[in-house]
Amino acid sequence: MTTIGTNWAGNHTYRAAALERPDSLDALREVVAGAPLVRALGSRHSFSDLTDTRGVLVDLSGLPDDVAVDEAARTVSVSGGVRYGDLARALEDRGWALANLASLPHISVAGAVATGTHGSGNRNRSLAAAVASVDVMGPDGEVRHLARGDADFDGSVVALGALGVVTRLELDVEPTYLVRQEVRTGLTWDTVERRFDDITGAGYSVSMFTRFDGDGVTQLWVKSRADEPALADVFDTVPAADTMHMLRGGSTEAVTGQGGEPGPWLDRLPHFRMEFTPSNGEELQAEYFVPREHAVAGIEALRGIGEELSPLLEVAEIRTIAGDEHWLSGAHGRDTVGFHFTFRREEPAVRGVARRMEEVLAPFDVRPHWGKVFEMDAPALAAVFPRLGDFADLRERVDPQHVFGNAFLDRVLP
Ligand SMILES: Cc1cc2nc3c(=O)[nH]c(=O)nc-3n(C[C@H](O)[C@H](O)[C@H](O)COP(=O)(O)OP(=O)(O)OC[C@H]3O[C@@H](n4cnc5c(N)ncnc54)[C@H](O)[C@@H]3O)c2cc1C
Repeated sequence: MTTIGTNWAGNHTYRAAALERPDSLDALREVVAGAPLVRALGSRHSFSDLTDTRGVLVDLSGLPDDVAVDEAARTVSVSGGVRYGDLARALEDRGWALANLASLPHISVAGAVATGTHGSGNRNRSLAAAVASVDVMGPDGEVRHLARGDADFDGSVVALGALGVVTRLELDVEPTYLVRQEVRTGLTWDTVERRFDDITGAGYSVSMFTRFDGDGVTQLWVKSRADEPALADVFDTVPAADTMHMLRGGSTEAVTGQGGEPGPWLDRLPHFRMEFTPSNGEELQAEYFVPREHAVAGIEALRGIGEELSPLLEVAEIRTIAGDEHWLSGAHGRDTVGFHFTFRREEPAVRGVARRMEEVLAPFDVRPHWGKVFEMDAPALAAVFPRLGDFADLRERVDPQHVFGNAFLDRVLP
């Protein structure tokens, strides 16, 4: 009996033979070079068998978590297992900031960028786009340093753990800044469809919460940098009377400060506070990306199956992500809209609606979020990720024995 347990959502029990938590790079090297099958484990927030292996899982949270800012280069160097929330606090203490964060600060830096994790904002790219370099330990235990501009770099950041264990990353930083978060209610589908780009452009990071039913967008969350003008147009919405959780009955203690009071970037850009359980806990998430020009058509397609989603759906969120160059990023080569879904934890039924969503979004070259539930197979994925074949070739060069392989990669790679 192993004691490795489950992922955060509890829908996947890890089948790895062992879990190692090395406390030095040398100890990590010994594990990686000595095991026939290895995978890096982040903070367990993915919703599938993506992370698992039949061999050894390595947890990097025992490595020294020193955070080093290079002020001249405007980068921070951080160990892969460090969580964004801890990195953000260390940066803020030194007067620095990241350009964006995901909805939760609990995820590890290496684990988040490995799946193309993103926040929101018409001009904000995925978290991987802030990566200036990665140090990747290959199957022989040797560390390769890849920096932005290097030939293999764009395939090596959003890499699904397939190329090795990311030991360190350098991320772009900027001077710290303040953000206001305002929550408004009453946004109608009519306004969303007529003014989608204005709404998503109304702040630095905008989220629309909905159930794709007749109620429209029940909550509009707008995060604006304090040095930017306040919301000029309110799209016929009204301010929320009190702090709101996007889930019905969710604890408002768990969400970051609302009401328009400026606060440090790290206390406003994520939806959830580090000290509390994010979202619901007993849930399954899926997310689909389509090019931004198809946002309204995508919304209409999802509204068309709203009644099929409804019995399982807790809440959905619409966000925008600027295009980037990472081969496996959901926003690779195109400005993107993300349709995120928090479902009840009923996996076979959720997989059924995932297939339906993939069907109705297929005309828009839909891509799935690698870390969430999806059903698309290798040929379907190769059709929408134009560099998936190049990624598979890169993997053959770096890891010909598939030491970092697993069942998930067998399903999704050509
Ligand atoms: C409540 C909740 C909210 C979420 N919100 C968002 C959101 O706002 N935006 C979004 O895009 N996603 C979101 N996600 C999804 C989440 O960001 C991704 O699943 C992310 O990959 C999880 O990171 P992790 O550290 O938990 O990694 P894990 O789930 O543990 O691992 C994910 C992948 O990363 C690899 N990996 C981990 N560490 C390393 C390493 N050191 N070297 C190489 N590979 C590594 C693993 O092998 C695996 O392939 C959310 C998830 C939850 C549960």
